[in-house]
Parts: sequence; C-alpha cells; structure tokens
Amino acid sequence: MDVVTTVLEARASLSTARAQGQTVGLVPTMGALHAAHLALIEAARRRDDFVVISIFVNPTQFGPAEDYELYPRALERDVELAEKAGVDLIFAPPPQEIYPEGFATSVSVTGLAEGLCGRSRPGHFPGVTTVVAKLLNIVQPDRAYFGEKDYQQLVVIKRLAADLNMPVEIIGLPTVRESDGLAVSTRNQYLSTEQRAVAPRLYQALQSGAGLAQQGGSGTEVEQAVREALEGEALFDVEYVEAVHPNSLAARGEAGLPMVVAAAAYLGNTRLIDNIRVEEGSGNA
Ligand code: AMP
Repeated sequence: MDVVTTVLEARASLSTARAQGQTVGLVPTMGALHAAHLALIEAARRRDDFVVISIFVNPTQFGPAEDYELYPRALERDVELAEKAGVDLIFAPPPQEIYPEGFATSVSVTGLAEGLCGRSRPGHFPGVTTVVAKLLNIVQPDRAYFGEKDYQQLVVIKRLAADLNMPVEIIGLPTVRESDGLAVSTRNQYLSTEQRAVAPRLYQALQSGAGLAQQGGSGTEVEQAVREALEGEALFDVEYVEAVHPNSLAARGEAGLPMVVAAAAYLGNTRLIDNIRVEEGSGNA
C-alpha cells in the first residue's frame, strides 16, 4: 500500500495500476476510519482492482463555528486499518496541496444542495462539491463510493458527476449502524454517556415515520410524527425533519411514497443526521 500526500505522487501510483489495466475505485473520507468507511472500502474491493482512499479533513466544508479544529485525526491508525482492509493507495494531502495559494474556483450544485442540511450549513455543500470534483479529477476513478447516511450529499454528488460529464460511476451504499440502530459516525465519540444512550431514538423516530408512510401517511404527516417523537425527548434539539422525494429532494407535502425521511438534531453541541428511505410496495432501506 502506498501512502502519498501530493497529487503528483498519487498520479504516479495510479498510472502504474492503470498501465496494468486495473479499474480504480475511490472512497473519499475525512479519516478517523470506522466501520462504515471499512464497508465502503470492502464494496470498492469487490468491484474494483485498485482501491484508493482519500483522507482529507476539508476546511471549506466546515462553517466558522463548526468543529474543523476538533475533528478527530488519526492517520497512523487509519494507515493500519486501510492496509488490513486491502486498500492500495492512501491519498492524504495537507490543505495547501488541495488549496494552493491563488486557488479561486468553486463548484456548486444549485437546488439539490440548498434544502435539508444546506439550509443550516450554507457553505457546506459548495465545500463538498468543490473538493469532490477535485478528488475525482485527481484520481479519475472508474467508480466512487459514498454512504447513504449522508443522503443529500450522495444525491448532490451524483448530480455533480452527471452535470460535468465526469466519466465515473457514483455508487451509494447503505447506512452502517451500531447494534442499537445509531448510524455510525465520527462525531458519535463527542457524545456523553447520557447523550449516547438516547441517540438511537433518532433512528427509532425515523423508523416510526417510515411505518406511517407505508400505511399511507403523507410527507407532512410523517414529518409531524417524527418531529413530535424527537421533541418528546428532552435532550434532542431538532434542526429539521423533512420528507423529500428520493431523487429531486423536493418536499413530499401531501404526497406519500416514495420518500426519504431525513432529520438533523443536536444532542448538546453534537449534530446528528440520519435518514430512512421508503419505497412504494416495499419495506424501508
Ligand atoms: P466522512 O469521513 O464522515 O466524510 O465519510 C466518508 C464517507 O463515509 C461518506 O461517503 C459518508 O457518507 C460515508 N459514511 C459515513 N458514515 C456512514 C455510515 N454510518 N454508513 C454509511 N456510510 C457512511
């Protein structure tokens, strides 16, 4: 496994793989690898010959009051885990490699990136789409793998790749959960014992909303039910609960299935997000 920090080195390592006719899969991450990252790597290994992960805590996707400085960094441990998981190349650039002096370009996706998390985190998606566009250009993978836990991000990145004619297949993979249902997340380690104990209620509320949607509940009814369930929990401070169309992310309103019910809520200073997708005539994903 190669561990490189510059674009030049990454391209050199990739060109050897390509010369051997290998397909390339990219898993973008912010490091501090956990079970969900390993599931993405595993999926990439099944489909692609040469697996690249990027480890980059992208400063431009954090708001000024957010946790950029505090965000866990664990490169040594990540290298060990990635090696064991069969990764071929880690691209772990410092910020100045991605944003050298004079950097002046921003890539943004309108509409899709403006609701849900985009509303409360105005610079977040432009930061994500700019860095992902760069990573896709640097690595030029055949496939890139993202988690459905960040559902809006997945839809936005699919749009980005399609709109810019990027020759890459964007693959979404199911949310990986702890045994009590809490979506695995780097930020879960910020939770106190008390907060961690109630955190699974976020997914439980979404599951009950999904049940209501399956019984014919409208988007608005589902949103109300999930919001009420969360607001009944003293520790949760709800940012949004929205039932949206899985592709357009438009509010379902009086319409029913299909829908993705997405929510963001704070436990103390820790912001948790989760979602559940409910299709017509099927269970939920
Ligand atoms: P991050 O390092 O948090 O930026 O995440 C890197 C990738 O892992 C993104 O595509 C995320 O959507 C994905 N991811 C993070 N947590 C989960 C999870 N619990 N289940 C599935 N994918 C996840």
